[in-house]
Amino acid sequence: MNPYKSLENHIVQLPLVPSHAKNRAAGYLIYGSRNVLIETGASQSNPVILSALNSLGLIPDQVDAIIVTHIHLDHAGGAGLLMQQCPNATLLVHPNGKKHLCNPERLIAGAKQVYGKDFETLFDPILPVPEERVQTVSSGDTFDLGDGRELQFHETFGHARHHIIAFDTESRGLFSGDIAGVFHDRIQERTGQSFCFPNSAPTQFDPVEMAASFDLMISLQPASLFFTHYGKAEKAVDLLKATREWIPFFSEVCISTYRNNPSLSFLTDYLQENMLAYLEKEGITIDELDVQNLRFDNNLNAQGIIAYEQRLQKGSAR
Ligand SMILES: [Zn+2]
Repeated sequence: MNPYKSLENHIVQLPLVPSHAKNRAAGYLIYGSRNVLIETGASQSNPVILSALNSLGLIPDQVDAIIVTHIHLDHAGGAGLLMQQCPNATLLVHPNGKKHLCNPERLIAGAKQVYGKDFETLFDPILPVPEERVQTVSSGDTFDLGDGRELQFHETFGHARHHIIAFDTESRGLFSGDIAGVFHDRIQERTGQSFCFPNSAPTQFDPVEMAASFDLMISLQPASLFFTHYGKAEKAVDLLKATREWIPFFSEVCISTYRNNPSLSFLTDYLQENMLAYLEKEGITIDELDVQNLRFDNNLNAQGIIAYEQRLQKGSAR
């Protein structure tokens, strides 16, 4: 089966790695008079990306830009290797992320600490991107896709302080990285109902900034959302509004729960139980793999909420 999914408006969805399960991290290729990739995944994603280009009749020299919504390794770990393979591409990243992609020592050390001996299989190599090939982008910046089409960038904090989103003027789709949350397209494909919740994965979750980012995304009135985790969602504004409603639960409710019972596994269970109860109330049926996927996400969500609580205690949260 062809692993790429052709979407409308000259957009192709690619399954990137790493992820703990199949189809949990997506990259998007916009092709036409200019060719742009959004998200690289880890270096292990490169064969998928190169073969997708090939199947569109493109060679790597024809890639004009590689955009990473933020520098977490499941989004940007393979940027250095891919930039070597695409000699004419410019890398677009938020200013706060640039130095880490050009000098990835800290990213590598952090990943080795988290993943231990799995680092090699999951992420190696993480190569530096030459500084002169990086263009920093923030709110108000655009990228010209030709034929009157452009990507408009917005700085969106709350998940990471180096996060941007890109609004495509032709599809009116928003490439939302991690800031619009985690979307489960397999639930949508099976049930026709959409389900998404915030992504509070470590370490820069900030509910105030995240709520402001949701307000910004809603104000753009996108038609669709292109989630990195995972897939394309329609009725974007309704979904953004529904997802935004979870933020007080992730912050106030989960933090007071954690203060009463300071345990990662307790908080993970608590998030999981509340999500399953919500799905049941909404009449959205899920299967065993969905439950596992949710549990993986909620473990990360709980870790990020705890990191936020620790910053609150130190007085270093905004
Ligand atoms: Zn992330």
